[in-house]
Amino acid sequence: MPSPRLSRIGRRPAAPVGVKEGHVFMSDARVLHFFGGKGGVGKTTLAAAYALRLAEEAPKEKVLLVSLDPVRSLSDLLNKKLSAKPVKVEEDEAAAAAAREAKPEPKGKGKAAKATKADGGVWAMEVEPAALAKGFLAKYVPALQKAAVKGQHLTEEDLGKLYGQATPGLEELLGLLHVVELADSGEFDRVVVDTAPTSHTLRLFDMPVGLRKFLGIVKAGAERAAGKGKKAAAPSEEQLFLEEFAAKAEKLLGQLKDPARSAFHLVTLAEPVPEAQTRMYFAQLRERGIPVVEVVVNQVEDKEGCTACLGRRGLQAPHVRKYQALDKNVPVHLVLKREVAPRGLELLKPFAREWASGKETKTMEFAASEGPPALVRAPSMPPIAAPPLPPTRLIFFVGQGGVGKSSCAAAAAVTLTEKEGPVLLISTDPAHSLSDVLQSRLTDVETQVKGTKGLYARELDMAGWFSNLRKRWKEKAEKAFEGAPKTGNEVPTDLLLFRNLLDAAPPGIDELAAMSCLTDALVQERFKRIVVDGAPMVSSMRVVELTDTARGWFTALHGVLSKYKSKGLGELADDMAAFLKHIKRFEDALASPNESRFVVVTRGEDLAAARSERLVEYLKERKLQVERVLVNRVGPKADCPKCENRRKNELNAAKVIEKKIGLPVTVAPALGRHPAGLRELKAFRTAWYALSATAKTKAA
Ligand SMILES: [Zn+2]
Repeated sequence: MPSPRLSRIGRRPAAPVGVKEGHVFMSDARVLHFFGGKGGVGKTTLAAAYALRLAEEAPKEKVLLVSLDPVRSLSDLLNKKLSAKPVKVEEDEAAAAAAREAKPEPKGKGKAAKATKADGGVWAMEVEPAALAKGFLAKYVPALQKAAVKGQHLTEEDLGKLYGQATPGLEELLGLLHVVELADSGEFDRVVVDTAPTSHTLRLFDMPVGLRKFLGIVKAGAERAAGKGKKAAAPSEEQLFLEEFAAKAEKLLGQLKDPARSAFHLVTLAEPVPEAQTRMYFAQLRERGIPVVEVVVNQVEDKEGCTACLGRRGLQAPHVRKYQALDKNVPVHLVLKREVAPRGLELLKPFAREWASGKETKTMEFAASEGPPALVRAPSMPPIAAPPLPPTRLIFFVGQGGVGKSSCAAAAAVTLTEKEGPVLLISTDPAHSLSDVLQSRLTDVETQVKGTKGLYARELDMAGWFSNLRKRWKEKAEKAFEGAPKTGNEVPTDLLLFRNLLDAAPPGIDELAAMSCLTDALVQERFKRIVVDGAPMVSSMRVVELTDTARGWFTALHGVLSKYKSKGLGELADDMAAFLKHIKRFEDALASPNESRFVVVTRGEDLAAARSERLVEYLKERKLQVERVLVNRVGPKADCPKCENRRKNELNAAKVIEKKIGLPVTVAPALGRHPAGLRELKAFRTAWYALSATAKTKAA
């Protein structure tokens, strides 16, 4: 049975049907199109282009383009301030065009409004999940509190406190529910969603399952409270509210998994970090039954230009091959890198048309002989010497994934070790790349990097850390509850609840893991410096809130447990107290300008300035010390006009960043291929230079 929504579309005579050359467009009645991928790969641009193309192919359809990305780049891309209320994106342009045409007759203005399409077109909105969640939480948290069944040890209030902490993952879910409701209401025919970064999106897909699990436990508890064998009293209003919400969430998930209704477009770049993340993301989407319809490789270099130009293209070849090997049924489409990123409707529309033609995928196909070039020698004397690295013990390299944070952090750590002695380099990025960058096999245990005098590196296994901790705590709780009075063979309600609480740990726990491990490093005296290759989470600007939530959760749990010290939960409570005290040491260090500084890594690209500006603002708001911005991979001076033009654009972007953000900018040059291994990293680090002399003076 087709849903009413689909049949409505089916009736539309205007919708052209068929597979376009090289690209699937209006080939079906799929309503929901998700564009996902890590930050900075251009998913917003491609989502916008796709929406414009959909509208062009079916002028009578209403297409909603919506961003769930907290980075809010859709406004930047469309040069239009967007809000949670959909606005038509083309109206202005059409009106402006009509106004231009009608210039001799100023009265032509009335005509301009008519010039827009009758009812179709693209509407855009940016959902602010946090704002959306506010009203919902006011109802949701008390409902959880009331629904949570108390055991012998844990009171209603205790449980409410704990469950109340476990809510941030809901925000994304609420955002998406809102969007899908707009589609279901019939207001829009198609919805193109620019999704949140990878980890958020996966969390969103997992949320309904977790919610159902929790409600199951609540129900079982209620039945048990009513007495063995008996049915529990009629569900309370709160329970009904939660049930309804869970049902909605499950229905949504069902829609997302339905290949006839939804399509997931995975956007990526032909670079090491995006490749690793994309392969992981692809597998995880598959695991969850989300229909991935294509892999779009953005910013592929063409076959024109000098050796350096072809070298940039050769660098991309192995990654494209990896994408092609993912699944032969999932097409890989190549999108040409534009010298000027398509921004604003005037550039986005032709871009959308070219992309839709599918020609680029064919003409840019990689030959078997194409591969990475040799490393270009770095200039022995950079134009303006780069200022020294921050003097603090902790140095964080943060920024979007794929900007080359790991290379920069590793290069810094290598030279610091040479100059100053033992350094610890830690990656908190879930998709680690330090092993590759250092050409050394790293694990979750500090390992001395071969060939160095005291460079130790570690790739944190954050998920593993929490599951170990959870296991330890569960064992302790089981032991403590052993002495509690039991009815028959039943597991005590308190223990059941405690287990569930540990399973329902809020997002942000992983970041807490990173904090705990960094504290371990901090309290060890043997490292003069600790260089952190930061998680891209930082750039999604929620790490602090999430950590707060996670800490709140721990604190609540600890508060509850310490009330029952006499009942055998004392040891566990002490454990948690020690843990909270432990990470407090790190939080203090983080807030002290004498102990920690941040370096924001970015690229010389058009949208980078706005993005970095927001990240810097975010860090500053939280009283974290941002030392400078590092613009990575700026091309070297060249005779080739294409290379020179690109270099000019990159330097201009760097200047915009310096001016807008008001922090000194250091430039790290592109050396042909990504530096790897100690020798190349050292050469890379020596090639860094200050963007301008004044910035250098300011920094000194
Ligand atoms: Zn060139």
